[in-house]
Amino acid sequence: MVSCNSSLKVCKECFYLTFEEEIHKVIIDNHLFKPGERVAIGASGGKDSTVLAHVLTELNRRHNYGLDLFLLSIDEGITGYRDDSLETVKRNEIQYGVPLKVVSYKSLYGWTMDEIVKEIGLKNNCTFCGVFRRQALDRGATMVEADKIATGHNADDIAETVLLNILRGDIARLGRCTQITTGEDGSIPRCKPFKYTYEKEIVMYAYFKKLDYFSTECIYSPNAYRGFARDFIKDLEQIRPRAILDIIRSGENFSVSSSTKLPEQGICERCGYISSQKWCKACVLLDGLNRGLPKLGISRTRGRRGLKLEIEPPVTTEAEMQQKELPKGKPCTSLDF
Ligand code: SF4
Repeated sequence: MVSCNSSLKVCKECFYLTFEEEIHKVIIDNHLFKPGERVAIGASGGKDSTVLAHVLTELNRRHNYGLDLFLLSIDEGITGYRDDSLETVKRNEIQYGVPLKVVSYKSLYGWTMDEIVKEIGLKNNCTFCGVFRRQALDRGATMVEADKIATGHNADDIAETVLLNILRGDIARLGRCTQITTGEDGSIPRCKPFKYTYEKEIVMYAYFKKLDYFSTECIYSPNAYRGFARDFIKDLEQIRPRAILDIIRSGENFSVSSSTKLPEQGICERCGYISSQKWCKACVLLDGLNRGLPKLGISRTRGRRGLKLEIEPPVTTEAEMQQKELPKGKPCTSLDF
């Protein structure tokens, strides 16, 4: 017997059905997709995106969503990590009968993460990687004319991000991070069908269904700050599982004061990507790299509220298994993914 989001104790077959139909309800209640849409599933090879690909394929067939699904993977160029996880995604392409598009940092930016880490070391690598990945996903989706991107971010990821944004005082991101669909006003919209799905349910679903996913952690993962938030949430969950959903609800109910200035979106003068500055973050970082001054784009400034990073490090996640008998979690999925 296993338990699902609704706290019922059910057999495996009923767990699968309940799990899938809970996702279906989230999709319908939140109008995540329209018939005929071409939807890119952000596929890292990890358990979240693998379960997402599996469940969306199944629901699309069962409920006649009429979606044109495909997998979109980003190859950051991390030897011993992404090359292996991409092999998993290539197998998923065959297993689910969904076409795969891979976009690499090397082709978009002229740099792999291996090369970037050689330049900058292991301190700010995730800042570069997260900024580049977010843009790469949009560019890949544009290349294949996608209408929407679906990502596998789950309730635990979102609750962690709510906490991190509070800890950082990042009101603009706090307002955005709980939205189930973002980017409707500019770039390709992104949605999170697993917004209300606990990570442990996803792990159980992947495990009992024997899905083919990759669970090695990125060799460049630091994870210190997010790890703290994750541990805190896992401790809370032990005492009261609903704490995760309650944190998300709290994030949803925060209202942004009218005196809080949110950045206005424009277009990067250099590459045309959406940006609230003259140059987008990726162009700033790339310029520093190409000039042999990689720290240029991540210099620290002293503002009215004290010292802060000009470019916020992206948040990275790492699975923490709650049940020791199940296989270990997921590779990095920056929350910008
Ligand atoms: Fe990129 Fe994630 Fe690895 Fe950091 S941990 S380098 S964001 S893949």
